[in-house]
Amino acid sequence: MVSDKYIGQIRELESVIGKHGAYVIMTHAKPDGDAMGSALGLSRFLASLHKTSRIVIPDRYPDSIAFMVREQEKNLIVTEKESPEEARETVMSAETVFCLDFNSFDRTEKLAPALKETKADKILIDHHLHPDRDSFSLVFSETEISSTSELLYYILMGTSTVGGDAGRLPSGVGEALMTGMTTDTNNFANSVYPSTFAMASSLLAAGVDRNRIISELYNNYRENRLRLEGLLLDRKLTITEDGVAYMIIDKALSDKFGIMEGETEGFVNIPLGIRKVKMSILVKEDEDRYRISIRSKAGVSANRFAASYFNGGGHECASGGKLLFGKDIEHSTAAMEKYLETSAKAFMTTDK
Ligand code: 5GP
Ligand code: MN
Repeated sequence: MVSDKYIGQIRELESVIGKHGAYVIMTHAKPDGDAMGSALGLSRFLASLHKTSRIVIPDRYPDSIAFMVREQEKNLIVTEKESPEEARETVMSAETVFCLDFNSFDRTEKLAPALKETKADKILIDHHLHPDRDSFSLVFSETEISSTSELLYYILMGTSTVGGDAGRLPSGVGEALMTGMTTDTNNFANSVYPSTFAMASSLLAAGVDRNRIISELYNNYRENRLRLEGLLLDRKLTITEDGVAYMIIDKALSDKFGIMEGETEGFVNIPLGIRKVKMSILVKEDEDRYRISIRSKAGVSANRFAASYFNGGGHECASGGKLLFGKDIEHSTAAMEKYLETSAKAFMTTDK
């Protein structure tokens, strides 16, 4: 059981939680369901012990997962983009910072210098490959697990307050963790382990309303998201002779459909449904960069491809990265296409 493996660290964590009254929780840029689910789950757990927390994130969580955040939690969340001074000050003055769902400081973008400089104890809870262990005083890193939400679930289950009984998780913790696990596994399609089903089973038995989570996540899209999906698959999908599929969403296209942050979540998985496709890449034009999402089938390392060509990383079959305009690549769709063709060719014919 995952809790048993970490029991020593869980006891240390309990002693840290006993020490202070206030905590800071951080997660990665462009937070997704797992980032917010684990952050809110931990915040709710701390609240049940009468501890306060602030959740400091590089930028706002997308509207598509706003249903996760309770009204009274909104003022606990500080974003660097909207309140840079407050975000930096909160990190600098913290005694303990929980770092959730990222493996190195640079994943917090503009908050990375504050996270490096702060004298706070830093506790890592994460499921990505290659964690930067030396940067943290306490490390919970497990890669054979679905999500940070699942890892946090087993950590909390191992605490003396919960004592292995999911029914004793404080209110809202199970919902947040079930949501994070569901989005990171793409609703039980990827990175699912026996422990993942065990968690889901215990949380269902404890009364977590999975139907509500599923309808919020997957039956609640705006029409334009589907319209864009249709256009992309019909007109913008290229498949190379080595079985690499790619699609580029440039700014004109996302503007045309009024696409919001987080709204293209899941698109990158679709081309993997084609038999001959071994790896799928989705590129999105952002303010100063192309953002890259990569998914692969077993036998092809999305992680290695992201690290070698896109300044990124993640998991073996689900990774991401970025190319900055003017520094890593010329700001043009044609240049991006060319880079995708040549990098995919080199990767698939040599070190996939
Ligand atoms: P997504 O495609 O869903 O944005 O990200 C997939 C995985 O890749 C996630 O685990 C995420 O943490 C990781 N990832 C995404 N972007 C980056 C990046 O810029 N750098 C690194 N190191 N990992 C990333
Ligand atoms: Mn995650």
